[in-house]
Amino acid sequence: MRRSAPPVRVAGPAVARRGVCFVISAPSGAGKSTIANALRAAEPRLSDSVSVTTRAPRPGEVDGVHYHFRSMEEFRRMADAGELLEWATVFGRGYGTPREPVERALAEGRDMVFDIDWQGHRQIRAALPDDVISLFVLPPSLAELERRLHSRGSDAEDEIGRRMAAARDEISHWREFDHVIVNTDLDRALLEARSVLMSARLKTLRQTGLESFVDEFFV
Ligand code: 5GP
Repeated sequence: MRRSAPPVRVAGPAVARRGVCFVISAPSGAGKSTIANALRAAEPRLSDSVSVTTRAPRPGEVDGVHYHFRSMEEFRRMADAGELLEWATVFGRGYGTPREPVERALAEGRDMVFDIDWQGHRQIRAALPDDVISLFVLPPSLAELERRLHSRGSDAEDEIGRRMAAARDEISHWREFDHVIVNTDLDRALLEARSVLMSARLKTLRQTGLESFVDEFFV
């Protein structure tokens, strides 16, 4: 009887690499937060960029976890002082990405996920052209988007109306993103989002630590 040899485990190189800035954008209700949450559960080493916002917390939202909730005055001060990597006004409220945690994550080779809008995506891409990979999440339909906003139950009627108008505006920018998916099925969307992240991690320019490893092959 032929026996196959036991698999030989060879330790790969312990290699540092540049972190990925993974931007996920979508209209409200497309399921972006659900995908981002599932992604974080599946990828424990992925850290979150916690944005600053001037809007009020929704029930269950915790300061410093979901957002840093700040006054408009403090938000303007942070923007003027250059403490925000990007910022935008969405629904008349300020939203921005604190600069320092992103710079620290990149320096330490950690990946970060950003839940920001198309305006933020443009700015962060311009600021970090080699480090950003972006994904746009489309809803299966506008009717389904509206149904999801209603079932979320956290926004008032007039807020839902405004979000539907803003959704069309957000969707009009979908071509600016590196990747696009339609969120019909969460498992599939999660697999697709993980594949995008994996492929970004494997980019040659990101594998800086492999230089000396491969150099050894030629001595
Ligand atoms: P929500 O109020 O539903 O949490 O977010 C509203 C919109 O603001 C979403 O499209 C979200 O992606 C966007 N947003 C959240 N944080 C930021 C940020 O730091 N920068 C930018 N540009 N947009 C953000």
